[in-house]
Amino acid sequence: MSAPLRLRDVVKRYDGGGETVTALDGVDFAVQPGEFAAVVGPSGSGKSTMLHTLGLLDVPTVGTVLVDGRDATTMTDRERTRARREYIGFVFQQFYLIDTLTAVENVTLPTVYHDDPTADERAQALLGRVGLGDRLGHTPDELSGGQKQRVAIARALVNDPDVVLADEPTGNLDRDTGRQVLTEFEQVTDRGVALVAVTHDPLVADYADRTVRIVDGQLTPKEVEMA
Ligand code: ADP
Repeated sequence: MSAPLRLRDVVKRYDGGGETVTALDGVDFAVQPGEFAAVVGPSGSGKSTMLHTLGLLDVPTVGTVLVDGRDATTMTDRERTRARREYIGFVFQQFYLIDTLTAVENVTLPTVYHDDPTADERAQALLGRVGLGDRLGHTPDELSGGQKQRVAIARALVNDPDVVLADEPTGNLDRDTGRQVLTEFEQVTDRGVALVAVTHDPLVADYADRTVRIVDGQLTPKEVEMA
């Protein structure tokens, strides 16, 4: 089975003010189905750029991004958007839930682009799975930080992605709540979904199957090219 998501020799440069910043400097990275990979590194090392590139939100200057074996760098914006919706779910430090919507409505948001009669049912089942079966009609201000992040995890899963990308998923949570969210991630990967979390938080590495470190846009250990 091909890796659901892979970066191959990716370079990302930003030009501005007569200066060029190399945010990613020859990154090879692949995540396998059911694997939980953590990417750790200091501030400014390229973590967000790597996550945005994996999430097809940003196009590399050089190199390829393979989604389910297809090169996303040659796709049109429309194709990339569709691939993102089909294959990738996102979880953010700030949760990004809509305050006026209930938990179920927040979870169904990524389904509104296409007619999807089973979306409500799936959202309810996913919220049940993350332990929020009794909070379906609550709005975010009626939920704790950990509960909000679990709604966000359910939302990331609603389109049945191959990969979930998480940006500092425990950054706004206390340690115990962070552990609960990471346990939830383990259950996500137990179902075969791949998960990549970029983070400062050493706790995340305790739960990950593999941790890579990024410094000055380069990964260590370097990944060996896999067939
Ligand atoms: P991290 O997430 O590890 O803090 P980033 O990926 O945000 O690191 O940034 C890596 C490097 O790229 C930093 O030097 C940062 O200043 C630079 N950078 C990131 N985004 C931009 C941008 N849009 N324009 C210019 N420089 C950027």
